[in-house]
Amino acid sequence: MMTRCVLLLVCTLTTSSAFCLPQHSPVPGGIAVIEIPPNVTSATYKNRPVMIQKIAEQQYAIVGIPLSAKTGSHLLAMGDRQQYFNVESKTYAEQRLTINNDRKVNPYAEDMERISRERQEMNRVFTHFDNRDSDTAFTLPVDGIISSPFGLKRFLNEQPRNPHSGLDIAANEGVPIRATASGKVAAVGNYFFNGNTVLMDHGQGLITMYCHMSRTDVEVGDSLSAGDVLGAVGQTGRVTGAHLHWSVSLNNARVDPNLFLQNNMPLLDDGQ
Ligand code: ZN
Repeated sequence: MMTRCVLLLVCTLTTSSAFCLPQHSPVPGGIAVIEIPPNVTSATYKNRPVMIQKIAEQQYAIVGIPLSAKTGSHLLAMGDRQQYFNVESKTYAEQRLTINNDRKVNPYAEDMERISRERQEMNRVFTHFDNRDSDTAFTLPVDGIISSPFGLKRFLNEQPRNPHSGLDIAANEGVPIRATASGKVAAVGNYFFNGNTVLMDHGQGLITMYCHMSRTDVEVGDSLSAGDVLGAVGQTGRVTGAHLHWSVSLNNARVDPNLFLQNNMPLLDDGQ
């Protein structure tokens, strides 16, 4: 069985990048950090390759669990070897928001083609996987207060919508947004819901996304270090005010960004 308190602070530094295991939190929207044998070179979850990190001669599979996952036994496949892990239940709070621009809640028919194209572009990035070293030592992308935590069940203008797939950090328009870890810029766009957006690929299926920016300062293909400026906080796309929507994806599952941070931030409201 996993000893989660031991895993919390397991980090090591190499000359190229820092490896920090995220927090083990096997719930929908969480991450399972699973010890795997030293000779395993690849693993899959729901037919997608998953990240493998090696720390002090021990290997771990780092599995993103989608918010839609059912509780119970889940399979990590490693060739002909199978390992099961348990997904526990978690109840996320509800949030009701009023969006003044109703077109962003109920898009016109003519918006649907654009929305579908943009979704495909983002999904191409979220589903990309390569085997390079992955920088998992995250820092906060912007100085601000968490105004809306990950996972909230959302009602926009009283209509149920997908749960909140990222973390909102409230800050003034124009405050710089910085790369949370080293990686490559994989997409830059002006999207219908997300506004001006940057997606970064950190390797092994770990992707971060930064939305609603007032401006973007990077281009696809740029190699960035942690802390490099990507752009600035804004209120483009579907918003109620200036903030950064920051999301983290692992094996195409959007997971709680807090699990990658050493210190959880204080919440503005009583989110769970
Ligand atoms: Zn958000």
